Amino acid sequence: MARYTGPSCKLCRREGTKLFLKGARCNSDKCAMERRAYIPGEHGSGNRYRRRMSDYGLHLREKQKVRRIYGILEKQFRKYFKMAAKKSGVTGVNLLQFLETRLDNVVYKMGFAPSRKSARQLVRHGHIKVNGKKVDIPSFLVKPEDEIEIKENKRQMVLIQEAIEASTEVDSTEWFEVDKDKFIGKILSIPTREQIQLDVDERLIVEYYSK
Ligand code: SF4
Repeated sequence: MARYTGPSCKLCRREGTKLFLKGARCNSDKCAMERRAYIPGEHGSGNRYRRRMSDYGLHLREKQKVRRIYGILEKQFRKYFKMAAKKSGVTGVNLLQFLETRLDNVVYKMGFAPSRKSARQLVRHGHIKVNGKKVDIPSFLVKPEDEIEIKENKRQMVLIQEAIEASTEVDSTEWFEVDKDKFIGKILSIPTREQIQLDVDERLIVEYYSK
C-alpha cells in the first residue's frame, strides 16, 4: 500500500501543530516545532499560521491534520469517510472511531511502539497477533474482546522494549487494557468521542467532504 515517505516533521510544520509522529523525539527539544515553528519554505516569517484562513482552508487543514496524525493517504481516508457516513450515528465520531480502532493505532496506543509509523512496521512485518493469529494488515479494525499480542519471539526487540519503557504513562484506558509484562492488550469497547484524545474538530472534516 502506498504511503507518505517524506520527512515527518515537515508535516507538523505545515499544520502548525505537533502531530507526534516521531516517538520520543516529539517530547524533546529536538522537535522541529520547538526550533522551526514556521511553514516549510517560509523561513523566518512564522506568520502564515496567524494569517486569516479562508473557510475552505480551515476545513482542509483539519482534514489534513487528522489524515497525517494517522498516516493515511487521501484515497483511504475518503474511504473511511464513506464508511462513516453510511454507518448510523454521528459521521464525524464514526470516522474517528474507524481511525482509532485500526490495528496500527491500537499497537501504538497500547505502548508497544514509539509511533504509529513504527507500529505499522511491526504489524506489516508480522510481529503482531490478534486473538492468537498473525495479522499483518495495519488497517485491520479491532473490535471489543479482541486480544492484541506481540509475538513471543519478538518481545525482546529493542524498539518494543524501549517503547514500553518510555510509555509508563500510557496504561490501560477505559476502552482497552494492557498487560505490558505479558505483551498483551485487550479491547474492552469501541472508544467514545471523549475517550479519543484528539484535539480536532471532526465536524469540519464532515463539512469538507459534504461540500
Ligand atoms: Fe512533529 Fe514529532 Fe517532528 Fe516534533 S519531532 S515536528 S512533534 S514529528
